[in-house]
Amino acid sequence: MIHATLKELSAALARKEISSVELTTLFLERIERLNPRLNAFITVDRQRSLAMARAADARIAAGQATVLTGIPLAHKDIFCAEGWLTTCGSKILSNFVSPYDAHVIEQFNAAGAVILGKTNMDEFAMGSSNETSYYGPVRNPWDTDTVPGGSSGGSAAAVAARLAPAATGTDTGGSIRQPAALTGISGIKPTYGVVSRYGMIAFASSLDQGGPMAKTAEDCALLLNTMAGFDARDSTSLERPREDYTRDLERPLTGLRIGLPREFFAEGLADDVRRAVEEAIAEYRRLGARTVEVSLPNLNLSVPVYYVIAPAEASSNLSRFDGVRYGYRVPEYADLLDMYCKTRAQGFGAEVKRRILIGTYVLSHGYYDAYYLQAQKIRRLIAQDYAEAFRHCDVIMGPTSPTVAFPLGAKTDDPVQMYLNDIYTIGAPLAGLPALSVPCGFGAGGLPVGLHMIGNYFSEARLFNVAHRFQRATDWHTRAPANI
Ligand code: GLN
Repeated sequence: MIHATLKELSAALARKEISSVELTTLFLERIERLNPRLNAFITVDRQRSLAMARAADARIAAGQATVLTGIPLAHKDIFCAEGWLTTCGSKILSNFVSPYDAHVIEQFNAAGAVILGKTNMDEFAMGSSNETSYYGPVRNPWDTDTVPGGSSGGSAAAVAARLAPAATGTDTGGSIRQPAALTGISGIKPTYGVVSRYGMIAFASSLDQGGPMAKTAEDCALLLNTMAGFDARDSTSLERPREDYTRDLERPLTGLRIGLPREFFAEGLADDVRRAVEEAIAEYRRLGARTVEVSLPNLNLSVPVYYVIAPAEASSNLSRFDGVRYGYRVPEYADLLDMYCKTRAQGFGAEVKRRILIGTYVLSHGYYDAYYLQAQKIRRLIAQDYAEAFRHCDVIMGPTSPTVAFPLGAKTDDPVQMYLNDIYTIGAPLAGLPALSVPCGFGAGGLPVGLHMIGNYFSEARLFNVAHRFQRATDWHTRAPANI
């Protein structure tokens, strides 16, 4: 059961081979046993989860089930869930019990899914290794001395270690895809605006997008069917007809044009990752696809541009954490200003403070034009590079991350090295494009490698198709870490 896909679990629930209470208990027990080693979950609430599972069993018995009814899902602790501690990996929200549900949670609740718990993450989703969490680092189940990637590292480790059948994540610069790659699972960042950001704690609002993380692309498609949808409470939510993201899964790949940006295979890419990605591309050729070389000339500017725009937006978004209305407040202070200063000094960690400082600086009078405005202009050029590339291909492929998972602590002293992890993943959110990562082999130390694919706007169904056909032809997605 722990290795089953959502489709298989859904069928087992429908046939009454297992109940939601049994399934939820199975995963809760695994969490109890393995989470002390992995630290993938911040909050587990057995009673609440089991109450939801009982309600799901009643719904199944009444013949009113959807495909997700009774399926336990783990949620990144960035999604507000009513009655659940919702910390965003930060001390400043360490006492915040959400009074409301995010749109994503509402939709899963309406479908009858069970909340299995809230997963660990980099503080306010800032990081690529899950080491900035106030709740401590998450460990990669493939090798617990290495990081699971970030910022959705808890969700990724939970799915990889089979502590949850699937999970949610969010991606601002790669936070779904990079941890998916480093832990050998599948994950997609949809087109900007497809998933509502209501109740998803904001990091950089013009980039943030929620998405599913699961063992297979097919499972991600099933989850996105429920996650996506218009929501008037998010002004950037797109009003489009509902889509069935599974509709094209089986379509043959004959004639598919895969664009390979030469910049994705240049200096900085580790040999083991290159090898696995090239073998995956050879598999696509066998499946009937052909490859064309494309170019993303501004790739090297994407990291500096992102690290101006994302902190600028974060500095504004995080101003709401002031100790007044909710969250942590320092116990002793002289006056209001002192309370603000001490609360924020104690409530935020080093990486969050670094970004608030950078963001405030680039938005300040005299520097705005030189940094923020310039970054916005280059952001447009980056989007144009992708538009040009999509004139020659249907999907862009490359590595998700330049290396396999690195040891804990290896990059914590050097933020720039840490930021360079995101070189391949940052472009898609800057341009608002959908992008997906699937496991495609193993590199040094037997650690997973991810294949990254970027599609044109609203091509999620096609991306799932391209990924699914690969997963029908290979078995990387079925591999699970030993000793779990
Ligand atoms: N690693 C990137 C950062 O630190 C991306 C994080 C994300 O996508 N939330 O900002």
